Amino acid sequence: MTGENSNLPLVFDFIDRKTEVFCELADRVWATPETCYMETQSAAAHREMLEAQGFRITDNVAGIPTALIGEAGEGGPVIAFLGEYDALAGLSQAAGVSHVEPLTAGANGHGCGHNLLGSGSLLAATALKDWLEKTGTPGRVRYYGCPAEEGGAAKAFMVREGAFKDVDIAISWHPSNSPACSARPRLPIAASISSSKVVPPMRRRYRNLAAARSMRRADECRCQLYA
Ligand SMILES: [Zn+2]
Repeated sequence: MTGENSNLPLVFDFIDRKTEVFCELADRVWATPETCYMETQSAAAHREMLEAQGFRITDNVAGIPTALIGEAGEGGPVIAFLGEYDALAGLSQAAGVSHVEPLTAGANGHGCGHNLLGSGSLLAATALKDWLEKTGTPGRVRYYGCPAEEGGAAKAFMVREGAFKDVDIAISWHPSNSPACSARPRLPIAASISSSKVVPPMRRRYRNLAAARSMRRADECRCQLYA
């Protein structure tokens, strides 16, 4: 993968060139922690970045004011990167320290790292956009700005309204205290990809998991809904 025919050096170069501005985006979202469907400033910050990077923007996805999509490229497969930017209630925290230090006791905070999640996904989408342009490769890359991951299930509504119906692959990640990689599908999105042969059983399982998830405690912030 790292030989002379690898795409990685070029892609990593695109990432390195823009890392600083995307770290600033993550810091901006960290500084304005907003919860469940109220991520007005966070979504606006992501929209500004999409615009600055030259994406075509769709606002108000599935009728949700803080959901948006940025798309770039023409033809080819549709590659989706999923971003989130919602915070959690009661997790106000100073940045850069490893002990509990609320900025405002009881206020919202990004204890789950979604300020990183959204910005990192958007940087990945941007690097792929730049690569498609540089190499003249057909393909569309999309950034999905998904609100209300912490209990609001916005992606389920986005799926229901067909926002993922022509997506060939959806890629997501989550901050953690150790590196790991998984090819397991995230159910709401996988269930929306019409070409999947495993859609019926996954849909059944999603219904079960969605019911279980509704009972999840607010401070349990690891990724959910995995098969
Ligand atoms: Zn999370």
